[in-house]
Amino acid sequence: MAENKRDYYEVLGIDRNASTEEIKKAYRRLARKYHPDFNKDDPRAEEKFKEINEAYEVLSDPQKRERYDHFGHDPGFGPGAGGGFEGFGGFESIFEDLFGGLGGFGRRRPPGPEQGQHLRYDLEITLEDAFQGGTKEIRVSRSEICPECRGSRSRPGTKPETCPACGGSGQQQVTRDTLFGRMINIQTCLNCSGRGTIVKEPCPACRGQGRVVRERTIEVKIPPGVAHGTRLRIQGEGEAGLRGGPPGDLYVVISIRRHKLFRRERDDLIYELPLQMAMAALGTEVEVPTLDGTVTMKIPEGTQPGTVFRLRGKGMPRLHGLGKGDLRVTVKVVVPKRLTARERELLKELAQLSPSEEKGKGFFDRMKDAFGGSH
Ligand SMILES: [Zn+2]
Ligand SMILES: [Zn+2]
Repeated sequence: MAENKRDYYEVLGIDRNASTEEIKKAYRRLARKYHPDFNKDDPRAEEKFKEINEAYEVLSDPQKRERYDHFGHDPGFGPGAGGGFEGFGGFESIFEDLFGGLGGFGRRRPPGPEQGQHLRYDLEITLEDAFQGGTKEIRVSRSEICPECRGSRSRPGTKPETCPACGGSGQQQVTRDTLFGRMINIQTCLNCSGRGTIVKEPCPACRGQGRVVRERTIEVKIPPGVAHGTRLRIQGEGEAGLRGGPPGDLYVVISIRRHKLFRRERDDLIYELPLQMAMAALGTEVEVPTLDGTVTMKIPEGTQPGTVFRLRGKGMPRLHGLGKGDLRVTVKVVVPKRLTARERELLKELAQLSPSEEKGKGFFDRMKDAFGGSH
């Protein structure tokens, strides 16, 4: 694929508003000038000729031309992009249209075995699934080799016959008189599309396609500790191959649903623990949830908001390695929004007691400071 491609209009030496007729004319003139058969001593002629053909291939097709005008040289289209190299087949026929066939330039080989397409399946799992690992079943629709004809495309008991037009080679030689003289043109056999065989009686199960669409249940192994976005490759479970090629693969892309309690950070889990103001001040014991049951945790006296306690080994399993990450417990001190009369009384009393380590500020004021509240 050529980077730094020249502008197609420039290649053909035409205006951006050129009519179809003008494009054709310019192409005809240049193609004649640079055809490799007539420029055997100029090694650059073939490159030039290809460039001209590519430009014409795009600009002569209204749809492709519009895309080109909008997007320029897009790697997603144009001759040479992708595997099929369709551009050259196309240009060959364009060329034949114009010149009635020339020496076998840009000849296509008969198509060989081709691997099937890869498939993608998006699988959403819970954080618990990712924690435990295990297997999941998914339903996948894919093409498979037709079991009736085993991909031969012919009704069972019959066989594809050798193409009489090309004798099985998939190619035809056509001798033609052109404006350049007599030329032998080798082209893909039109009778069999280059396959070399003809199906006389198509297989009824696949209507002569050789492949059928089947829905399959496939087991996916979820490794414990799998990360969000992981692509699991399941070899050979994609689409059936073509002409005896191997099947493609199945890629299962894992996404992990948001959990209502835990946030994940690599192998660690983060849990926000709501703690009553008084409990944070006095210290206590709390039950903390994990993905593996609850654990009891000690909250020391005077615990400040935002304090993080690390519970070792209570996080996610490590995907590549031993052990588990940690559970990080972040303390979120909860200040009561509404107080009962009794609570108000107690808190007022507490505020007045005003421990003296911070002059002029009572417990209540310090609490407020800690939460960033205004006075
Ligand atoms: Zn079949
Ligand atoms: Zn043939």
